[in-house]
Order: sequence, then C-alpha cells, then structure tokens
Amino acid sequence: MKNIVILATGGTIAAVSQSVAATTAYQSGIVPIAELLNEIRPLTNLANITSEQVAQIDSADMSHELWLFLANRINSLLQQPDVDGIVLTHGTDTMEETAYFLNLVVNSDKPVVLVGAMRPSTAISSDGPMNLYNAIVLAASDAASGKGVLVALNDTVNSSRDVTKTNTALQDTFKAPELGYLGYLIDGQPHFYRLPARKHTYLSEFRIDELAILPKVHIIYGYVDDGGALVRAAVKDGAQGIVYAGLGNGNMSQHMQKVFNEIRQQGVVVVRSTRVGNGVVTKNGAVDDDEYGFVAADTLSPQKARILLMLALTKTRQPDEIQKIFETY
Ligand code: ASP
Repeated sequence: MKNIVILATGGTIAAVSQSVAATTAYQSGIVPIAELLNEIRPLTNLANITSEQVAQIDSADMSHELWLFLANRINSLLQQPDVDGIVLTHGTDTMEETAYFLNLVVNSDKPVVLVGAMRPSTAISSDGPMNLYNAIVLAASDAASGKGVLVALNDTVNSSRDVTKTNTALQDTFKAPELGYLGYLIDGQPHFYRLPARKHTYLSEFRIDELAILPKVHIIYGYVDDGGALVRAAVKDGAQGIVYAGLGNGNMSQHMQKVFNEIRQQGVVVVRSTRVGNGVVTKNGAVDDDEYGFVAADTLSPQKARILLMLALTKTRQPDEIQKIFETY
C-alpha cells in the first residue's frame, strides 16, 4: 500500500453550517481532518494515511508565510522514501493560487493533490467526502506522478497551471475552460487524457528553502479611463512588479502605456495579463513589449501571473529573462 500524508488547512470541506440546506452561509475551517477522514475511513484501504492539521482557515486568509511553510513541509515529506504522495485540503477560493505556487516550488515528481469542497460538511449531499476519497485515490496512483500539482474536485482532475474557479457556488466549478481537464476520477480510478506541457515541480528551477519572504507584486485591474493612481500607489507601496489585468490581449490605453513606462524606468517589472479569462496574451501583440520592456503573461490569469512573477523576481529583474520564464512555466 502507498503511504499518503494529508495536510489540512481548512476551507469549506471542513465547514459547518446552521442548517443542512445551507450551502453558502457557513463557517469555514472548523472540522478537524481526523474527523473528516473518519467519514471515509472504511473506504480507504487503498493507502496508509497519516494527517497533519497545518491550519484551520478560510482560504481567503491564506498567506505567503503559510505557502512557504507548506512548500517546505511537502518538499521534506516527499524526500522521505516512505512517503508516496500528498493530499492538501484547502478552501476553494484561493486553491488555484496555492496549487500553482506549489507546482512551481515542489521539487518532486511524487503526486501532490489539492482538494476541497463547495458544500460544507454539514450539508445534505456534501461533496467533501467523495472529493477527499478521490484525492487520496489520485495521490496513491502511479498515474498521477510526474504530472505536476493537481486539483481534484467533482470527479475531475485539473492541472494547477490552467485550472480556475468558474462558479461562485456550484460544485461543478473547477475548470480549465478552454484547455480542458486532464482527466476524471470514476469508481475509484483515475483516467488521464492529456499532460501538462509546461515545466513544473521536479523540473522547476525555483527553490524556496532559503526564502523568508516573497517579492512584492500587485495586480492592477484594467478599466476605461484609468488615470493610473493605483499603479503609482502600488509602486509607492514597494511593489517590485505589477501584473496588469489588461483589456483584451493585455491591452492598455495610451495614458496607461505612459504610466507603465514611467514605472518601468524605475525598475518595476510590468507583466501584461488579461481580464478576459481565456486566451493568450501575445508578446508584442496589443502592445509593443520590446519597446516598453513589458512582459506578456501568456495564458496565465492575473493571479497566477503574480505568483510566477514573484518567483521570477527571486532570480532576475530583466524583462527578457522574465519573458522566457513566462514561456516556460
Ligand atoms: N470560503 C471558502 C474557502 O475558500 C470557500 C470554499 O472552501 O469552498 O475557504
């Protein structure tokens, strides 16, 4: 049997509501992982399971400090020959960010699977127990190794790079809308149909074991007639990088080109992402990146571009080198 370690951080999978019919009004991060496991214990003869309650939070309260702790803990667990895979229970609101961060800084090809639930543990037909069971199945499977950090909810397997929460309340929320699921979990079996093509985990160049903090990067949302006040405030706050959730193909007004050019001259790295939700932000497409020294975010959402930029800034502040990083991960 495989040895699986579950690291628990809270979220709706551990939430409690006043009424069994309440699916959105509840308190996250209440039920301990030991109790959640008890619900599915009779089914889990497929792995030796140990668990650690690392935190008990709503994932809105996830922090860089906790990310670094989790990444270091996962790296050290996966170095042990007697640990075969990790399941991380997590709130769904920021799950995609934690998953992508770990995808870049976990240096192992062993399975790491993030799981949560959309319905609190007290709801009728809560999705937590089946999701947790499936996540353990996946983490204990040979099929999941070498595929990067995975997100498993609602009987589907997603790549952490591409997945996003697409619906505020429904169980069918985690998707990579255009790029697609990696596979399904059906009757206790993973079924894979595609592979992540970008570098991750054991092939990643990023190391966090000696990092105490992450470089400051803010996201600025694009809109009509933006005067640039928030960009200047972000730089005043000490941002080393800005991700612009730009218009269309990472587009910006002529005024915002000047504002971003101004902060570029001060050494702040500017990454153009998009508020559109799908598609590629192409280098030198809507904006001449070569002229301004901007970086195009490729298909990364603003929140994921921010994570890659923070890690890139631990290596370099050169836009052309950071552009290569965005084309690699
Ligand atoms: N607010 C919750 C959280 O992210 C939502 C969830 O887990 O579904 O912790």
